[in-house]
Amino acid sequence: MNTMNRRTMLKAAGVLAAGGVAGCARSASADDDAHTLFAVPRTTIPIVDSDDLFPVRRIYCIGRNYAAHAIEMGSDPDREPPFFFQKATDAVQIVMPGETADHVYPPLTENYHYEIELVAALHRGGRDIAPEEALECVFGYAVGLDMTRRDLQRAMGDESKPWEIGKSFDHSAPLGPIHPAELVGHLTEGSIRLQVNGETKQEANLEQMIWNVAEQVSNLSRSSELRPGDIIYSGTPENVGPVVPGDIMEGRIEGLPEIVVRVVPRT
Ligand code: MN
Repeated sequence: MNTMNRRTMLKAAGVLAAGGVAGCARSASADDDAHTLFAVPRTTIPIVDSDDLFPVRRIYCIGRNYAAHAIEMGSDPDREPPFFFQKATDAVQIVMPGETADHVYPPLTENYHYEIELVAALHRGGRDIAPEEALECVFGYAVGLDMTRRDLQRAMGDESKPWEIGKSFDHSAPLGPIHPAELVGHLTEGSIRLQVNGETKQEANLEQMIWNVAEQVSNLSRSSELRPGDIIYSGTPENVGPVVPGDIMEGRIEGLPEIVVRVVPRT
């Protein structure tokens, strides 16, 4: 390793080791110019009215965040603190407004479920962020689907094993472009709806979340430092259900354009 490479690596490592800042703050990013063995594509999301792309660092998802959905999943919404899981960053599938995106039915499942969700994208992070400051971290919002291999999720849960295989897999996170809060405001109320083949399956209001987006950001920041590029799937309303190849899902959140996704068989 030559001197310049060593210096670059130490510099990058130093940034990573520097630790976080309390409260909602911008943070430095590591240098990207260190030599790597091979290139790994970066996951990015388009931003409406901008040529810039939103880089994704982590995908967090909250579980059971609408009371009626918590009940249908078998838990008591009054007693349960929020809980989160993650999807792999490269599970993102971009769905542009006006297009019908083909979504491949995944392997290993015979009960593949939709979950329509509001997605919040963070441009600031921090630790121990107060709920009153948390929306300052939110850059914008998108319509997302937390696609779920429900049979695998349930089977793993029944065996007290991690249900990651039911939630985090290739293409399991379809979502539309990000709409900056500067343009659309902070989405704290408004209808959220999913139709399959023209029939309404899920319909609720964002204000029915048990933990709103600000509270989710605050809660997450107490267990891990949040950073710019983190996105949060904010939970699905009741009446989740299955799709099969050929089905067309239309997801809509008031204030954002709808996304249309067609389930196609694996080839
Ligand atoms: Mn979900």
